Amino acid sequence: MRIEQAVPLGRYTTLGAGGAARAFAKPSSLEELEQALAWAGEHRLPVAAIGLGSNLLVADEGVDALVLKLDGGLASAEIRGDLLVAGGGAANAVCLHRARAAGLGGFEFACAIPGTVGGGVRMNAGAYGSDWSEILERALVVDEASVRWLTPAELGLSYRRSRLRGGEVVAQAEFRLEPRDPDEIKARVSELQALRKAAQPTNKRTFGSVFKNPDHELTAGLMLEACGLKGHRIGGAQISPRHANFIENADGARAADAIALMTEARRRAHEQYGVELEHEVQFLGPLALPPVGG
Ligand SMILES: Cc1cc2nc3c(=O)[nH]c(=O)nc-3n(C[C@H](O)[C@H](O)[C@H](O)COP(=O)(O)OP(=O)(O)OC[C@H]3O[C@@H](n4cnc5c(N)ncnc54)[C@H](O)[C@@H]3O)c2cc1C
Repeated sequence: MRIEQAVPLGRYTTLGAGGAARAFAKPSSLEELEQALAWAGEHRLPVAAIGLGSNLLVADEGVDALVLKLDGGLASAEIRGDLLVAGGGAANAVCLHRARAAGLGGFEFACAIPGTVGGGVRMNAGAYGSDWSEILERALVVDEASVRWLTPAELGLSYRRSRLRGGEVVAQAEFRLEPRDPDEIKARVSELQALRKAAQPTNKRTFGSVFKNPDHELTAGLMLEACGLKGHRIGGAQISPRHANFIENADGARAADAIALMTEARRRAHEQYGVELEHEVQFLGPLALPPVGG
């Protein structure tokens, strides 16, 4: 396994923006992952795992860390009985394909989530009334000091949240699925994909939902739409004219442009609704939102 220096991360994100990782590696086995974590420890570098970068905003200045993208055996998936056993780096699309081929249902909702198994655990990803916590049996979490299997309760999964910290890498996960007719699975997936296409900008570079839905009768998207933010542009980034809780890379967006849009969105939501929106997108590198009204 090579540990590369100064690797630009923009191409590893769905937004397509951001600077370079100080160090970058693609471990493809548990052994390589442990070696990479030990290397980071020796060099006193923090560790961040990334999946498909579909909920990620990387700082323009770059990231002073060892960034890990799981590969090979840590990015593949197979069926064992009614368990889907997948590497943390396995794409949801691959997992769904394996499950359907084996006549196992329960993972269909993930067709709307363009990430990986590990990113899904970290975020407790969900859509259409289901989320990771409902189907996840256990996840293998590795850090510099330990390798542990954790249940959803031990992972602290709740709405788009887990207790996982930066240096904790989901190397593998097991999902309990149930027998279902592959044609039924296919039909449900087509139905969900059509719903998505009708509501969200599926042909633009975005990082998915910008903010979590607040505890309010309006979703974050409807609130920001009511604040008149659809189409609002700063630099190369734009609030989607289609769905106000998405930021699109309109033309050479920088992370700073996205942060400026998020700051403005939070200011307006607070002014009009008294709500402090919490960001769902994960920050990598020195990025932060100023306090609302600050
Ligand atoms: C068009 C679009 C639609 C989307 N729709 C949805 C949706 O309906 N529901 C939803 O929940 N999300 C949605 N998302 C957001 C995103 O797809 C999910 O959050 C997804 O789970 C992120 O997975 P990822 O592998 O891309 O993670 P990344 O974006 O690469 O990383 C996200 C976080 O997970 C951490 N992470 C990644 N891999 C690991 C690992 N192996 N171990 C430990 N930590 C890890 C990262 O450090 C980071 O903190 C959407 C995104 C897009 C672009």
